Amino acid sequence: MSSSIWHPFTQHGLNEPVPLVTHAKGALLHTADGRAVIDAISSWWVTTHGHCHPRIMAAIAEQTQKLDQLIFAGWTHEPAEEVAAGLRAIMPESLTRVFFSDSGSTSVEVALKMALGFWHWRGENRHRIVVMDHSYHGDTIGAMSVGARGVFNRPYDPLLFDVGRIPFPAAGAEQATLDALEALCRQPDTAALIVEPLVLGSGGMLIYGPETLKAMREICAKHGVLFIADEVMTGWGRTGTLTACEQAGVVPDILCLSKGLTGGSVPLAVTMASEPIFEAHHSTDRARMFFHSSSYTANPIACAAAAANLAIWREEPVLERVAALAERQVAWIEKLDRFCHFNNPRTLGTIAALDLKTSGETGYMSDLAPRLMAFFRERDVLLRPLGNTVYVMPPYCIADDELARVWDAIGEAVISF
Ligand code: PLP
Repeated sequence: MSSSIWHPFTQHGLNEPVPLVTHAKGALLHTADGRAVIDAISSWWVTTHGHCHPRIMAAIAEQTQKLDQLIFAGWTHEPAEEVAAGLRAIMPESLTRVFFSDSGSTSVEVALKMALGFWHWRGENRHRIVVMDHSYHGDTIGAMSVGARGVFNRPYDPLLFDVGRIPFPAAGAEQATLDALEALCRQPDTAALIVEPLVLGSGGMLIYGPETLKAMREICAKHGVLFIADEVMTGWGRTGTLTACEQAGVVPDILCLSKGLTGGSVPLAVTMASEPIFEAHHSTDRARMFFHSSSYTANPIACAAAAANLAIWREEPVLERVAALAERQVAWIEKLDRFCHFNNPRTLGTIAALDLKTSGETGYMSDLAPRLMAFFRERDVLLRPLGNTVYVMPPYCIADDELARVWDAIGEAVISF
């Protein structure tokens, strides 16, 4: 199809096909040429309950008849109030404040600004952000600054700010991560640590243990360094629990949520903050207000979708569905492991990943991932490997036969590549 659209993370010079999707339901994407493609990565990790979930679609339709958009500086509306109350009821009690934005990246920008604002208004010169190697927090300038550096952001490097870095806590090397964190937290200018709890997504589905997450949280608390949990990918059941932090008994000072917040239907994000962070900005002095907004902050239609998602979480056995999917993922990867050779099979909740053993170049920029994507596309399966890492992160409603088709295709790929 000829088009003037400039797609994200797409090299148009390679002329790869860009399938046209006309409609979707559950785990299936239907294309204009009549194919039913299994969305095995939940359309970039957003779709939790399934595409076009009836309750969420109905809530959106109803909201379109009431209020489409409202300036959110100094005004409010029912769907936003409902979402804030719903989040307060299920997220840790100490996260008392809900700030809306519209994507995972913006929720991270907001978190960073909150952390810096907190220290600024407390009169302490703390501005250093500590980050974990291989992290990904989004593609805006601040989010890139706290993420891994490389080919993705080389042209923008002069603009990215300096951060403190700790190594990924690979199995057996966790202490090195904790020691590095301890050393950075001792620096008087360290403001906050931002982490993807339990699993680094874009970094290659790198999984680490809850004990390490807990220990990192304790080190931050000991030194008064703010702990920011970026649960943009891990939230909403992805790792088996509502949030990944829960598995470590960790309560962050600031929590970023997006993707599954609306069940993955429309864009919305929140950054939840503890009371001291709000209090640092709370004043009769107008100069101290939190200077962050975008035109569509807390868009009522998006909030109606999020409110419907929260109702689904309250009223339906979502975690049971998550647990059932997690079991099926483990069963599939174990089955494949008996017949094929690959490296590092791993699962966490609904996420399953493995690394292909290939003789050629396997880096993110090698042609392996595009070749694999084409291989899966030919089999009507949407997978988007990260280098040689193939992962499956489907909507929780994926049917047995659909999941079987995904894993059959992966089995074929393991043999063929
Ligand atoms: N943080 C994490 C952990 C993510 O995985 C992502 C996206 O994949 C983001 C932030 C950025 O979210 P968005 O793409 O909605 O800006």
